[in-house]
Amino acid sequence: MTEPSSDDGHTLRRETELVVNEIAQGLRPLDAGASWFSRLAPTRQQMVLREVAGYAMQTHVTAADGRVGVARSGVKPTANPSVMICMDPPRYGFADLPSAEHVNAFRVLVSVFAVADNRRRETYCKGACGHAWHNLPAATEQP
Ligand SMILES: [Zn+2]
Repeated sequence: MTEPSSDDGHTLRRETELVVNEIAQGLRPLDAGASWFSRLAPTRQQMVLREVAGYAMQTHVTAADGRVGVARSGVKPTANPSVMICMDPPRYGFADLPSAEHVNAFRVLVSVFAVADNRRRETYCKGACGHAWHNLPAATEQP
């Protein structure tokens, strides 16, 4: 009980990976993900935003992905997170935004990641791939 922080961080990263990829693959609604995020403490929200920004960077988000993702996120195109992700190259300093903007940042970031990730799944990953996060158990699908 003396040092829960490192364990917590690990659990939070695992949970973030699952939530974000379920949203990206249509297995969980964005609203449900946003409400999970909104219940986290502010410092944990910052950890999640940094984690998801890392996924987005690995997926090579383009400005076009940014515009499509923002349109799907339900966040105004003029909001700070929307403007940042649509820059070329995108800016990823979402964790440094005021905490009042963190939920919007999460919605934008996950939506844009989903757009870029789905494009990759249809091209680079077509057929089969070794990305663990592209091979989640699809509970609702019949074989
Ligand atoms: Zn893949």
